Amino acid sequence: MTAFADLGLSAKLLEVIEKIGYETPSPIQAQAIPLILSDEKDVVGQASTGTGKTAAFGLPIIDKLGRAEKKIRALIILPTRELAIQVSKQLSVFAQNTDLKVATVYGGQAMYTELAMFRSGVDIVVGTPGRLIDHLTRKRLDLSNIKYFVLDEFDEMLKMGFIEDIEALLDACPEEKRMLFFSATLPKQIQGVIHNYMDDYEHIKIEATTQNRGDIAQYYYNIRNSDKFELLNRLILSEKDFYGLIFCRRKIDVDELHAQLAKNGVISSVIHGDISQ
Ligand code: AMP
Repeated sequence: MTAFADLGLSAKLLEVIEKIGYETPSPIQAQAIPLILSDEKDVVGQASTGTGKTAAFGLPIIDKLGRAEKKIRALIILPTRELAIQVSKQLSVFAQNTDLKVATVYGGQAMYTELAMFRSGVDIVVGTPGRLIDHLTRKRLDLSNIKYFVLDEFDEMLKMGFIEDIEALLDACPEEKRMLFFSATLPKQIQGVIHNYMDDYEHIKIEATTQNRGDIAQYYYNIRNSDKFELLNRLILSEKDFYGLIFCRRKIDVDELHAQLAKNGVISSVIHGDISQ
């Protein structure tokens, strides 16, 4: 089995990896890290969420950037603010032994906060397409020093209609840059972008695995719809300090379940598209 120490990362980074407790690289990390460190080809990584993609591109990019230069050299684009925040936090953890600065930009955050971050000099920008375009058209975002251009969850961004924004961002970067695109699927439009922007690239494909993680037990219950709430209620009561996420198909189901739980004295909160951010 490959070890992190075999992938070509610096001692500085290996120290961080040990500190955060990653023991062995995930398949996408084992393949992508040496490739990105090698300075050769662009990368198309086909892998879904939870496969360790962030470290697969984050660790080698941080290693290659090395020290702060106070100009944006890596741009990482994600479909949602939640993902942008999550990835940005992870990158800051990976960069803890360096003086590299990471900025996060997304719609809903005050523009001037982001502007102040750009002005203070950042090395890595993690953001959502719409907000990045806002900064770009206002000439507040200088992409002329970009060395690494990362698209994460590209298929999700395509579904959300961000393809033109992404192309505009790609066009605002220098010709000479390393492109790393990650996507669970590669529909035609994405293949088109790859074809238009990449000359020579390596395609890494991580087969989706249905394998269960050893530390997570999965159960299903075959029951009537009318018995669902009663069963859920019993499951919650049978567990000391129950803490969980419950997914429903429709917003109205979410609201109804929330109300039913409240009646039974169970505290829950609701997330769906009609609730403000
Ligand atoms: P990601 O797919 O990048 O969102 O990562 C999913 C989760 O796996 C995150 O919580 C990571 O911190 C964790 N993770 C990533 N790589 C490893 C690894 N090699 N060993 C253990 N955990 C990891």
